[in-house]
Amino acid sequence: MRNSIVFALVLCMSVFSMSSSAFGEELVVYSARKEHLIRPLFDAYRQESGVTIKYSTGQAAVLLQRIKAEAENTPADMLITVDAGNLWHAAQEKILQPIYSKVLLNNIPAHLRDPENRWFGLSVRARTIVYSTERVNPETLSSYEDLAHPRWKGRLVLRTSKKVYNQSLVAMLIVEHGEAEAERIVRGWVSNLAAAPFSNDTRVMEAIVAGQGDVGIVNTYYFGRLLKKKLNLPLALFWPNQTDSGVHVNVSGAGITTYTKRKAEALAFLEWLSSEKAQRLFADANLEYPANSKVSPHPIVASWGDFKQNPINLINAGKYQARAIRLMDRAGYK
Ligand code: FE
Repeated sequence: MRNSIVFALVLCMSVFSMSSSAFGEELVVYSARKEHLIRPLFDAYRQESGVTIKYSTGQAAVLLQRIKAEAENTPADMLITVDAGNLWHAAQEKILQPIYSKVLLNNIPAHLRDPENRWFGLSVRARTIVYSTERVNPETLSSYEDLAHPRWKGRLVLRTSKKVYNQSLVAMLIVEHGEAEAERIVRGWVSNLAAAPFSNDTRVMEAIVAGQGDVGIVNTYYFGRLLKKKLNLPLALFWPNQTDSGVHVNVSGAGITTYTKRKAEALAFLEWLSSEKAQRLFADANLEYPANSKVSPHPIVASWGDFKQNPINLINAGKYQARAIRLMDRAGYK
């Protein structure tokens, strides 16, 4: 008797698991994070849950407008994008919905998620100082603000102010110092430039290697990428502001669309993305830091040392973005 109950139960369970994969549950993700960085996650999730993730990649602004235009007809259940400024815009446009999840609140630190729970950071990118190990004594480095000091005249290299990463950095300077002081700092950077701003972070580092400048500001994963190509780079990372505000960080993150018809399934996937296994896949693919602080970074990333993050909520990167753009324009930061 007992055996037959167990048998019936096992039969029931196997029918259930068969049906859930046979019916092929699906979720649709629009992603501004590149395909090669997210596909391994989608594959891993399908293997674990049976849920297939369909996706469409593109630029953040384009995907945002697409969801807005498609409105209740959008197939997108989730938006994944880089930079808190972009996530903030998506929330402002009301295409992301607030979600309450103890798992997410527990896994993602407060400064890396929307206070209204419409988006959650999933990987952390630190925007820090990089310097020439041949021409800079790291003891002479201290903070982003100090790069405005005349001692760095003709030695600083920066990426263009058109990139959202620098807009977010300057937005955070405005929050910390007020607009007048932030402008003084940015003007100092501009007057210290060794060359016109570069189109990307890799160019900034290549310019330092080539001796065009001595110090710059980059996202750490670009440093990791360059290290993979060229060992023995005469460059090192420096963690600024360790006695005050901390290192400027940003995230790539995700939110659930306002129009999803599969909220529970999308939430289960988002919660999974904050779990230890997914966090490793998400961060390691791009040599970033897991947003979940209980998960350790890739050994290469860990070798760059620990640092204190700036704990100001990243929502400010969005809130102050327009002011940051105008400020950089006034300061002549191209
Ligand atoms: Fe990037």
